[in-house]
Amino acid sequence: MQINAQQTSATQASLPREQLPANHLVCGIGDPGDAAYLLESGSVEVLAKDGQRIAVMRAGEIFGEIALLDQMPRTATVRTLEPTTLLRIERELVQELLKRTDPVIRHLLVLLLERFRNRSGVHGVICATPEQDESGDMEAAMLTLILAQDLTFALENGQLELAYQPLVRLDEHNLIGFEALIRWQHPLLGSILPTKLISLAEKTGLIRPLGLWVLQRAVRDWPTLRSYCQATAGTPVFISVNLSGAELANPQIVETIDDLLTAAGMSPQELKVELTETAIIEDMETVGVVLDKLAKKGVAVALDDFGTGYSSFDYLKTLPVSCVKIDKSFIQELSSSARSREIVQSSLQLAKSLGLLTIAEGIEDENTANLLATMGCDIAQGYLYSMPLSLQAILQWVDESRKLGRLA
Ligand code: C2E
Ligand code: CA
Ligand code: CA
Repeated sequence: MQINAQQTSATQASLPREQLPANHLVCGIGDPGDAAYLLESGSVEVLAKDGQRIAVMRAGEIFGEIALLDQMPRTATVRTLEPTTLLRIERELVQELLKRTDPVIRHLLVLLLERFRNRSGVHGVICATPEQDESGDMEAAMLTLILAQDLTFALENGQLELAYQPLVRLDEHNLIGFEALIRWQHPLLGSILPTKLISLAEKTGLIRPLGLWVLQRAVRDWPTLRSYCQATAGTPVFISVNLSGAELANPQIVETIDDLLTAAGMSPQELKVELTETAIIEDMETVGVVLDKLAKKGVAVALDDFGTGYSSFDYLKTLPVSCVKIDKSFIQELSSSARSREIVQSSLQLAKSLGLLTIAEGIEDENTANLLATMGCDIAQGYLYSMPLSLQAILQWVDESRKLGRLA
């Protein structure tokens, strides 16, 4: 493996260095593979069992990685050809990195190593046969691969649905809009958690077609949904769609949304984009540009799960956010925890002082709704009003809620 000078210098600071003379035995066949080596300067030769030279490696190259990864004894001998500096990459470091890697990648790595070694199993952090799969990687990898395949099929064959959860104004009790939430009823596994489905789609590159499908469906259903809503002064009726960082890092999405709105004759003010605050946004610069363009067109941006991530204030400062959704973990403790109450109160005050619309999610009882109303929160969402419903079920819910006086 070859790495460039820039990458090398970034790694160097944290790795122990070994300065070795010429003709020095670095490691031998059968030695435990507890480290790999990055050649900083000089060169080494790699010798097979019979003493034959297999390779010469120079500065910037890595050797010893196979034994390091599969934790089996070394299969080659390495000797310096001249004074040489090596950086030691300890197994613990690589194991830590591997733990954070997706099971699919770990499992594929196992298969690769197994083929390389030409034997039926390897041990340690990674293993190859069901009997040796103590880590559960193989099962997790298979599930991910099968589900990714099924998700592609589901997308193409109408197995996905959107559920809509009503958003109610706390002052006038009018239905102001809906949040669209994805639903997947897997033919064998039953309903798949939306969070699992989204993370699967993100990992497998299906998030963009999925996001497009969500937008298309939400825009398609909006005329029906809008007919149930009532605007109040200052707040137009709207539909909220969740878009993850991965979806918003696609500059194309601005045009896509524009085209969808135009084709449907929908006003941009009637669409809100919810950005999950907990998701790690890799390409913040592009996401910022995309959100700016959307905001300029009139599409509102809501910061979802406010208070749970590390970047709440940073996002408020840098992104064109016009609405915050206070996370349900705070709302659900509103009556029982003074701390949560303080956090919600301060968040509402902060949002108000920035001129932002506020939504509280996860309201499950009257007491919480009343508290939030007195605290000045604008919009309520939660099981107290309704679970997310199918498009067909909403009319009945609206009728019943109006009869019961829960909805204006
Ligand atoms: P979220 O955006 O924070 O959505 C609110 C979640 O809280 C929904 O879970 C909703 O069903 C649930 N919820 C609403 N009211 C209550 C309540 O009173 N009590 C409790 N305990 N829960 C309540 P859901 O539908 O399981 O979605 C989970 C997450 O998956 C969403 O969290 C969102 O981050 C993501 N998600 C859902 N649909 C989509 C989508 O179409 N695209 C993207 N990118 N993410 C989505
Ligand atoms: Ca949301
Ligand atoms: Ca949320």
